[in-house]
Amino acid sequence: MTYEELHKLCWDSDIVISVETMAKLRDYAHLLMKWNKKMNLTAIDQEEDIVEKHFYDCIIPAKVFDFHDKTLVDLGTGAGFPGMLLAVLYPTLQVTLIDATAKKFEFLKDVKEQLSLTNVKFVVGRVEEQSALRETFDVCTARGFGSLSEIIEVGVPLLKVGGTLIAMKSSKGVEEVLNSNKALQQLESKITNQQRDTLPSNHDIRLNIFITKCQKTTPKYPRKWAEIVAKPL
Ligand code: SAH
Repeated sequence: MTYEELHKLCWDSDIVISVETMAKLRDYAHLLMKWNKKMNLTAIDQEEDIVEKHFYDCIIPAKVFDFHDKTLVDLGTGAGFPGMLLAVLYPTLQVTLIDATAKKFEFLKDVKEQLSLTNVKFVVGRVEEQSALRETFDVCTARGFGSLSEIIEVGVPLLKVGGTLIAMKSSKGVEEVLNSNKALQQLESKITNQQRDTLPSNHDIRLNIFITKCQKTTPKYPRKWAEIVAKPL
């Protein structure tokens, strides 16, 4: 996908990307390609693929969700997807990126600096160990991070009551939704929207699952990661 096609597809969904923001997206892609030569950040390394499979993919939730004037935490952000990308698009969105791998932040810090972003914070650490951030965010995103029930267990505690968890999945998400009842019940949350979309070039199915937090989370969750994996909800 070219930048022009990205701009047009977003425009068609009422997402207007300014000339200034488009320039930042180009800079982001170029930094990703440069850093990817020295550290393993992404398997997607052709610019047209970055534009479609990272940038456009991360914008899809914005077709149905308003990210303006909110606080957002991105679980296992990796090279900044979707959190950093959303920070570039929405200057009024206050974004916290969490990842357990300290090395990734060398790249993310460079992106923040080069793109002059003032709405991004970094937390190096495990998402299930962020007790100081409980009940804090309006939105929590996760892409390429754990199963749906794992995302619910570690993500919902970080949300304010009424906040939204957005789990970004492929077609496999359909089955995960069917297995998420216990996690939704235990974390007192409910699925409020399922957004199905496709990537234009290969028609890859994307399923973004929107979950609303209904009640304050019991201190029981999240459990330690080993337990989350050994005894999934
Ligand atoms: N969200 C990105 C990266 C997905 S790869 C994308 O969609 O491209 C998963 C990332 O999660 C890795 O960067 C890994 O370091 C991080 N990760 C895995 N388990 C974690 C945990 N428990 N806490 C914090 N980060 C974690």
